[in-house]
Amino acid sequence: MSAFVGKYAEELIKNARYIATPGKGILAADESTGTIGKRLASINVENIESNRQALRELLFTSPNALPYLSGVILFEETLYQKTSDGKPFVEVLQENNVIPGIKVDKGTVELAGTNGETTTQGFDSLGTRCQQYYKAGARFAKWRAVLKIGPNEPSVLSIQQNAQGLARYAIICQENGLVPIVEPEILTDGAHDIKKCAAATEIVLAAVYKALNEQHVLLEGTLLKPNMVTPGSDSPKVTPEVIAEYTVTALRRTVPAAVPGIVFLSGGQSEEEATLNLNAMNRLEVLKPWTLSFSFGRALQQSTLKTWAGKKGNVGKAQEVFLVRCKANSEATLGKYSGGGAGGLASESLFVKGYKY
Ligand code: 13P
Repeated sequence: MSAFVGKYAEELIKNARYIATPGKGILAADESTGTIGKRLASINVENIESNRQALRELLFTSPNALPYLSGVILFEETLYQKTSDGKPFVEVLQENNVIPGIKVDKGTVELAGTNGETTTQGFDSLGTRCQQYYKAGARFAKWRAVLKIGPNEPSVLSIQQNAQGLARYAIICQENGLVPIVEPEILTDGAHDIKKCAAATEIVLAAVYKALNEQHVLLEGTLLKPNMVTPGSDSPKVTPEVIAEYTVTALRRTVPAAVPGIVFLSGGQSEEEATLNLNAMNRLEVLKPWTLSFSFGRALQQSTLKTWAGKKGNVGKAQEVFLVRCKANSEATLGKYSGGGAGGLASESLFVKGYKY
């Protein structure tokens, strides 16, 4: 059962540790062409390459924001894109000590005979793709597995398939120099209470770490990207302190201390909710052997996107809004966020039923 120590071991450990630096986190800007199309449609902007490039340039060149980030996850198209001045995005990030990452999964497909549960695709030529992404400057990867809560879900089949898939993906990344972000996302859809989410999260994470161990994954060179433990989207809300207590308890029971960092997804929470929940976790006075940070997509971009609205003249203002969220989340990784960084836009719920990233 010993971990695989290949030629990249030292580098993997160093990069995973760096990404987990307290005070820094990850911007998930790896929306696939289809998903970014939905975002752009919400502000009436056409889904063409120049508009996708313009949004990513706005984010990556945002004055003073990059010191709050240790990594940015990119979609393949963005990995090879440049600023309007002709500088590769990868260089812009590297010069600011932000590690470029890459989404390597190819979305989900339904598991036959289940009530809409899924498994994640993308194993074809994964090793070769990882080598190409490494050459292009990527040093970490993301693969999103999706599970759901229902009367009989997550099923044993879905738990096993997704744990095996994540472990196989993780070891292929490590063989090729990329730190794998292991993302078993349990969707928030449903009317369940927080206890049910806690139980599902513990079962899923326990299965994921068993599979990672069985496949000899070097845990020191990985990061975990889980859901926070919350009540279902159709249930009454609870305070950040309650979410923090349940989430940290579930993680302490299942995530080995060898893992350097846990970077949460925002999963449809409003920007402000996600920040307050992360802050409450970092304030909790229990032993936490890993850094607790963020890898937010929607909760880092929503108010920026709306402020930009596809107009050149709004870029400066949108970048200011982005800086506010980056700084707020950085403070939350240290348990030092005092709230109030939110205008009206940051408090809007971003929940979409059956969300597909
Ligand atoms: P959200 O923060 O929008 O949930 O997305 C993060 C992500 O990368 C999901 O895979």
